[in-house]
Amino acid sequence: MGGTSLAEPGAGSDFRAIATTARKVEGGWLLDGENAWLTNAAFAEITLLYAQTDSAPETKGFAVILIDTNAPGFERLKIH
Ligand SMILES: Cc1cc2nc3c(=O)[nH]c(=O)nc-3n(C[C@H](O)[C@H](O)[C@H](O)COP(=O)(O)OP(=O)(O)OC[C@H]3O[C@@H](n4cnc5c(N)ncnc54)[C@H](O)[C@@H]3O)c2cc1C
Repeated sequence: MGGTSLAEPGAGSDFRAIATTARKVEGGWLLDGENAWLTNAAFAEITLLYAQTDSAPETKGFAVILIDTNAPGFERLKIH
């Protein structure tokens, strides 16, 4: 089961406000951020994550990255 991770606590329909970042590091990408209100988030094994990249900061570049939710550092929290 998969999901889409776009909405954040501070970014809904304002796509440009996405604060999650993807930074290229040796061996891959380092992702940093949090999402909220995601359909299937409790079960998804993969998700399409939207993130700001540092590859083109002057244009606020975006990447859409397919991630394995079992990867180290990925955490699911209950929303209250
Ligand atoms: C059932 C459900 C399932 C969801 N599943 C997912 C999911 O799987 N993945 C995911 O990423 N997100 C998901 N979401 C989150 C969803 O994408 C966001 O709720 C959506 O992007 C709207 O953001 P917001 O709720 O923060 O509203 P806001 O962005 O705060 O908008 C509030 C209101 O203001 C209006 N508005 C916003 N900007 C402007 C503007 N510039 N001018 C005029 N009006 C404006 C909007 O149209 C809206 O009526 C889900 C939401 C729901 C309800």
